[in-house]
Amino acid sequence: MIKAIVTDIEGTTSSLAFVKDVLFPYARANLEGFVRNQQHLPAVKSILADTSAVVGANLDTEQAIAQLLAWSDADQKITPLKSLQGLIWEAGYQQGAFQGHIYADAATKLKAWHAQGLALYVYSSGSVQAQQLLFAHTPFGDLTPLFSGYFDTHIGGKRDPASYLHISAELAIPAQQVLFLSDIKEELDAAKTAGLQTVWLVRDAQPEPHAEHRQVASFDALV
Ligand SMILES: [Mg+2]
Repeated sequence: MIKAIVTDIEGTTSSLAFVKDVLFPYARANLEGFVRNQQHLPAVKSILADTSAVVGANLDTEQAIAQLLAWSDADQKITPLKSLQGLIWEAGYQQGAFQGHIYADAATKLKAWHAQGLALYVYSSGSVQAQQLLFAHTPFGDLTPLFSGYFDTHIGGKRDPASYLHISAELAIPAQQVLFLSDIKEELDAAKTAGLQTVWLVRDAQPEPHAEHRQVASFDALV
C-alpha cells in the first residue's frame, strides 16, 4: 500500500534537455547583465559578498562577475552561483522567457494521484527553489499545490541509501509505503536498499532485461 510518492525531475517528470539546453544556457547568457543591473538588490549584494567570501578576497562587482562566469563555465555547484542562477531563472519564468517542461503524462498522473489523496514529494539535485519555480510555471498551470514537500541534496546525495531513509523519516511514513520514481538506476538501487518501492522511467531508452526495478515508458503505465 503506497502512501507517498517521491519523484525525480530530470528525465522523469521533465526532459533532460529542458535543464541542459534551456535553463543553464539562459542563466549563463543573462548572468553578466543581471548582476550589473540588479547589483543593488539585497539578494544580489549577498551573492556578491558570498562570492568574495568563497574566494577569500574582496572582489569588486566586475571581478565577482568574472568569478561567477568561471564557475558557471566549469559547471561548478558553488552556493553563490546556484543562488544567482535561481534568481535569473525566477526572472526568466516571470517574464515568460520559458516555461517549466513537464511531460503531459506526468502532469495528468500527478494531478490524479493528488486527487486520490496520495502525498507527493520531489527529490532532485536541483535546488528546492529551482524545483518550485519549474512546477509553478508549466504549460499545465501552477502544479506546486500538488506537492507536500521538496527535497534537494541538502538531505544527501541521490545515490546514497541514507538519503532515502532520511526522506521516509521526514515523511513519517514507513519506507516500504513510499514509491520513488527516477530515470537513473543507481538512484533506484539506493532507494530500494533503503526499503522504498521503485519504478524506473525509461522514456527514450530501451528497457533493461533482468532489472531489479519495474520499468515504464511513461506515467501512463503507473496505476
Ligand atoms: Mg533524473
